[in-house]
Amino acid sequence: MKKKKINNKIYDNKIFDLINKEYIRQKNQINLIASESYSSIDVMKAQGSCLTNKYSEGYPNKRYYEGCKYVDEIEKIAIMRAKKIFDCDYVNVQPHSGSQANLAVYNSLLNIGDTVLSMDLKHGGHLTHGSIFNISSKLYNFKYYKLNKKGEINYNNIYKLSKLYKPKMIIAGSSSFSGIIDWKKISNIAKKFNSYFFVDMSHIAGLVAAKIYPNPIYFADIVSSTTHKTLSGPRGGIILSKNKDISFYNKIDKSVFPGIQGGPLMHVIAAKAICFKEAMSNKYIIYQKNIIKNIKQMANIFKNRNIKLVSDSIESNLLLLDLRKYNLTGLEISNILNNYNIIVNKNLIPNDKLNSNITSGIRIGTTSITRRNITPKYINIITNIICNIITDIKYRNKINNNFKKIIYNICKKFPIY
Ligand SMILES: *Cc1c(COP(=O)(O)O)cnc(C)c1O
Repeated sequence: MKKKKINNKIYDNKIFDLINKEYIRQKNQINLIASESYSSIDVMKAQGSCLTNKYSEGYPNKRYYEGCKYVDEIEKIAIMRAKKIFDCDYVNVQPHSGSQANLAVYNSLLNIGDTVLSMDLKHGGHLTHGSIFNISSKLYNFKYYKLNKKGEINYNNIYKLSKLYKPKMIIAGSSSFSGIIDWKKISNIAKKFNSYFFVDMSHIAGLVAAKIYPNPIYFADIVSSTTHKTLSGPRGGIILSKNKDISFYNKIDKSVFPGIQGGPLMHVIAAKAICFKEAMSNKYIIYQKNIIKNIKQMANIFKNRNIKLVSDSIESNLLLLDLRKYNLTGLEISNILNNYNIIVNKNLIPNDKLNSNITSGIRIGTTSITRRNITPKYINIITNIICNIITDIKYRNKINNNFKKIIYNICKKFPIY
């Protein structure tokens, strides 16, 4: 077949040029943002496919539109694969994002005004777990538990607050907590006070899929996740459950559609299916194991160089640095690191006195650098450069071109695709 020539008048040079620049940025920077990864070429192909044209409101075999023969198959495969990797018997693959998944969970199990107990935002909870800036806090009555001084989850505090407030739902799962959350302990508290136990495993889903982080599905009534963090699939959300009845599952389905969404993003659902298949491979399990190996290596270097970690227990994909003793804000250091082509995000730390635009901490994750197979030798180099920049003002006042060159060469040595 003859290839059609692209008509320059229609072809949007401006946007495609920017996409290309973004690709080059991703290639040439060390990405330590804990919530990002690089999806596979196949995942991106599916997302750029003709499936984006199709309306398929409803669920497989129960659609409001004709022409859903193939998208039905795709959604069924996505569900089947997700059930397998997370060992559950209910999955909804339609939430457009993690936030949508969470809103759908609330909308299915809570009434307006119900009390919910969640992790405080400054202690690692997510915006959608009742932050005052999020709609969740306007709809429901949120109460918050905190970490203890060592940066551990304070289960006694959860118990006490549950006893006091009798919440309809308790939420666990975090955006910056690096340790193991004892799902069973919180589940027992929830049972005692007749609360739903909801786990948001957005950050750790890839680790759970690879069976190297405890699967919350055995303890929670309902589990949500993103598909683009450690899971390394397309940007999106999912909801999972196990051992509930059909009416419970129907409630969740109805809450997603028509409750809070219209037509599903079938191109993204196809990409989710591809990512779930990838998650069954040995290569993927090794990838997830290396995420943890690498973050532990980084944590040890920070500790050896006396840079404070919010929690010493590092069992997931990320760690949180407390920068207060260097008189540095998260905003300052993330900007400076950016000039070295090292990308991190500023992050609140427990009891932070600064606001979320400034912060006293940064969050560092190894999902992306592990995805591009950066080896321990080079992780050591990157981490020590970060330590030098944090601890020595001369590297902050003036960019050290040698460091910058080293970072650039590491990027060249370990391509993202
Ligand atoms: C990232 C994240 C979300 C939200 O995901 P979006 O896709 O950005 O809406 C929800 N909960 C937790 C714990 C997260 O880390």
